[in-house]
Amino acid sequence: MFDELTGNSRVKAALKRMLVNDRLPGAMLFTGEEGIGKKRFALEVARALNCRTPKDHEACGVCSSCVRISKLNYPQREDADEWTQIIWTDHPDVGLVVAPKRVLRVEQMRQIEKEANFRPFEGKARVFLVDEADGRLVMRNELFGRNCLGQFVSRHGDPLREM
Ligand SMILES: [Zn+2]
Repeated sequence: MFDELTGNSRVKAALKRMLVNDRLPGAMLFTGEEGIGKKRFALEVARALNCRTPKDHEACGVCSSCVRISKLNYPQREDADEWTQIIWTDHPDVGLVVAPKRVLRVEQMRQIEKEANFRPFEGKARVFLVDEADGRLVMRNELFGRNCLGQFVSRHGDPLREM
């Protein structure tokens, strides 16, 4: 379903190639200007990995897995404590962490470390999106592996980079 995302044909082609070859890196960094849909790209990869009826290695967009991964359950309140928790989608294997001031807090890293240890509950891979983080500095790549993918979304750096 990369068709539904506008532009970035080079990035789409690279992601597609990784999915077709089943060679996604343990951690990826999505960067670019505000509003180009970095998070949507990252979520689309999470959907492609966990889709129940993938079409040509891409997410079908309509199975229960795809539908639930599309829904992020943001905290209802401004309460800072709630925003430092993992913000799960309706799917138990896909969540988002919002890094305050671009740097993950120690407790957020611990949460991800803990969650990354679990095997996927129902999908093929656990996927954690980290929003606005300088992933190179704060995250150890070895946290992620075969069944767990970390995706970092940031305004800075190269457009799509394996970490
Ligand atoms: Zn699907």
